Amino acid sequence: MVTTDWKSDLRQRGYRLTPQRQLVLEAVDALEHASPDEILVEVRKTASGVNISTVYRTLELLEELGLVSHAHLGHGAPTYHLADRHHHIHLVCRECTGVIEADVDIADEFTAKLRATFGFETDMKHFAIFGLCEKCAAAKRQAGRAGQEGSA
Ligand SMILES: [Zn+2]
Ligand SMILES: [Zn+2]
Ligand SMILES: [Zn+2]
Repeated sequence: MVTTDWKSDLRQRGYRLTPQRQLVLEAVDALEHASPDEILVEVRKTASGVNISTVYRTLELLEELGLVSHAHLGHGAPTYHLADRHHHIHLVCRECTGVIEADVDIADEFTAKLRATFGFETDMKHFAIFGLCEKCAAAKRQAGRAGQEGSA
């Protein structure tokens, strides 16, 4: 588990977060993979006056400061992580929408090939990879077999 000491990190860099911004950052930390809407709900538990545009602006600022980063796990809004927690590839199951976090190292061979072939530095964290999780893949195989037996 990564311990995040963003408060002293910010102080060292001469920044101070307003209480509202701090709440947004804390919500990102607590929720993991949270969309701006989910962050808003969390922040409003403490500060009911906060609106969605404040959340968007704050996320933008926090991203510029390098404290949070976002990833796209589907068609909807991006989801946010603390930047130092975000070193994984997201494997999203199409069927149950479960998310597996795989270490980026797992793609080393692939990204090395892209670098060698195209000189391309791949960011594996920004977009998710879609497929079927182990459970859903097994269920599909089961269903497929049942279907074949039925038609025979
Ligand atoms: Zn993006
Ligand atoms: Zn699944
Ligand atoms: Zn993640």
